[in-house]
Amino acid sequence: MSQAPADRGGEVELLPGHATVVGDMPVRRVLPQRPRRTVGSWCFADHMGPVAVTEDGGADIGPHPHMGLQTVTWLVSGSLVHRDSLGSEQVIRAGQLNLMTAGHGVAHAEEHTGDFRGDLQGIQLWVAQPEATRHGPAAFEHHAALPRFALGSGEGTVLVGTIGDATSPARRDTDHVGAELRLLPPGAPVPLHPEHEHALVVLEGKVEVAGLQATPGMLAYLGSGRDECALAVHEPATALLLGGVPFPEPIVMWWNFVGRTRDELGEARRQWTEDDGRFGVVASGLPRIGVSRPPWE
Ligand code: MN
Repeated sequence: MSQAPADRGGEVELLPGHATVVGDMPVRRVLPQRPRRTVGSWCFADHMGPVAVTEDGGADIGPHPHMGLQTVTWLVSGSLVHRDSLGSEQVIRAGQLNLMTAGHGVAHAEEHTGDFRGDLQGIQLWVAQPEATRHGPAAFEHHAALPRFALGSGEGTVLVGTIGDATSPARRDTDHVGAELRLLPPGAPVPLHPEHEHALVVLEGKVEVAGLQATPGMLAYLGSGRDECALAVHEPATALLLGGVPFPEPIVMWWNFVGRTRDELGEARRQWTEDDGRFGVVASGLPRIGVSRPPWE
């Protein structure tokens, strides 16, 4: 996988994602896509659900490894339990941020909470780590409260980075930004960083941007060079804004790993398969998730 193609001068592109299933969860994968592999350092985006969750299941993903990336979990409805090989056990609810840094290696599982019943919906994102931190230790952060900003009569929440005067306390290894936008009619302009490229992922409703209608399941790529972007809605809508300085290093991505060479990815798979300790152990009742050899081996 190569880095993002050059900016196209700020024209908006609507890129349809595809439906797939992760664990028990129906998702719409909007990043990566063939014409657009990364947005800043954001390299993966799965819009999860909405899916009905009960006290016993509905959204379980067993222990699996990561390396070279941060997982950003954000729910717009419902709750989940995160468990990882650092020993973290954390319930995440709508409007809260789970940020796990894989570095050299970590494993985690996401499960039903045992008491939540209802619709679960959210987004699972990955951020590629730069060379400076990707070989480093794993880490986990939970942020129950994040800074908000006005969006006309609606409101935004900064997950990571800075929007206007609002800065998230979440760890950031590259210059990127992520925010939830809760838009109310008639919409509002959202402040952007001109040196960032940006994209919009609509989770609920419809958002009009540059005369195009962005709906769930697509990536609306906004390019760079904008200091704001006008977003229009006729009904309440929820979207994720992703942005950042285009990732400067070519990355290769396969399964749950981000690296720079296929050899690194194959080695990580071998070590997870052999359970040699690199990725640790997750205290989960679910079976470990495995994968067969990559196509190049
Ligand atoms: Mn994961």
